[in-house]
Amino acid sequence: MSFVTSVVGSFPRPKFVVEAYDKYSKGELSREELEEYLDDAVKLTIKEEEVAGIDVITDGEQRRTSFVSFIGEKLEGFKHVYITELNPKAIEIMRQYKGPLTEWRAVVSGYIKGSKIALDEFEFAKRYTSKPIKVTLPSPYLVMWESWHSQISKPYYKEPEDMAKDYAKVLREEIIRLRDAGVAFVQLDEPMLGDLIEADENEPDRYRKVIELIYGQKYRGFKNELTLARDLLNETVKGISDIRIGMHMDRWPNPDSPKFGTGYERLLPEVLDIKIKQYVVEYAAPGSGDPSKFLEHFDNTKEIGLGVIEVRNPRIEKPEEVVQRAERALKHLDPKRVWLNPDCGFAPGLYRKFERKIAFEKLSVMSQAAQILRKRYG
Ligand SMILES: [Zn+2]
Repeated sequence: MSFVTSVVGSFPRPKFVVEAYDKYSKGELSREELEEYLDDAVKLTIKEEEVAGIDVITDGEQRRTSFVSFIGEKLEGFKHVYITELNPKAIEIMRQYKGPLTEWRAVVSGYIKGSKIALDEFEFAKRYTSKPIKVTLPSPYLVMWESWHSQISKPYYKEPEDMAKDYAKVLREEIIRLRDAGVAFVQLDEPMLGDLIEADENEPDRYRKVIELIYGQKYRGFKNELTLARDLLNETVKGISDIRIGMHMDRWPNPDSPKFGTGYERLLPEVLDIKIKQYVVEYAAPGSGDPSKFLEHFDNTKEIGLGVIEVRNPRIEKPEEVVQRAERALKHLDPKRVWLNPDCGFAPGLYRKFERKIAFEKLSVMSQAAQILRKRYG
């Protein structure tokens, strides 16, 4: 099929989930009681994605406090903490550098041990839908930047890279488990790699700057970061076949940056040496650049998960506008290799405010656009 529609992962949480999580954090709700609310939120989200006409759905990451921190509740070796526990000035630092991180964090505070990460989420979701399911997982390079703290993690892993390698092994086992359980698509979330577009050889982007200050990490320089991300991803997916593996990179263009208007072509050629099939990327937000500059370098094995819906702007697009955004990919790719998705998750963290009904309308418009495109291009 051409122009398969999917989502990047998260869908805004219903109010009852946010309230339940807050009560749970204060000890006013048991884990079992919380799980009941989360079960309901997943059922609701699956239904909304189905009604909106999405072909490959997710559970909306309803169970996760954030797209990355939830591993702190799943894996041994991590601690799940609120950001000010890592640095009392964290909120001020994020504000100063305009680099907002999700508030709940998974920090490494022991040796990472293998366990299931998302299999339980998938097993639950598949009971409520017959559609193919995408499962999102935090990538090792991301987790290295997000979870290694210079004081808390150092007794176990002297360098962030050592920790990332251990996590990559655990992740690899989970991808194989998910494949064997029938997952259609595993998407590795690698927002930090996309953020690198705004970095210079010796000057980190705003997110790395914030993490340097909050976690005590050190920027390795543009080329070294890029090759490290590539190598960690390739170690993770090496030799795994019979499942579609994609990678999502954020962009979130910053109008104050000289890189506003530059896209993923800045990460060439290394980014295309990553052995994944689909690049799930942002191209709807203003300043994210021209997709053909990236796509002209694709060989015939790669697919694009093209961002055609803005996720940080509540304005609901018109179908024809989305069609035009998608058509920009057709100069270089066959329609069968073009998937459509919003730029990013609508709510990567529990507290991200985005109206559910607007997210639903945006997904519906994307499905309508896919139908127009299929009629036009087959
Ligand atoms: Zn994203």
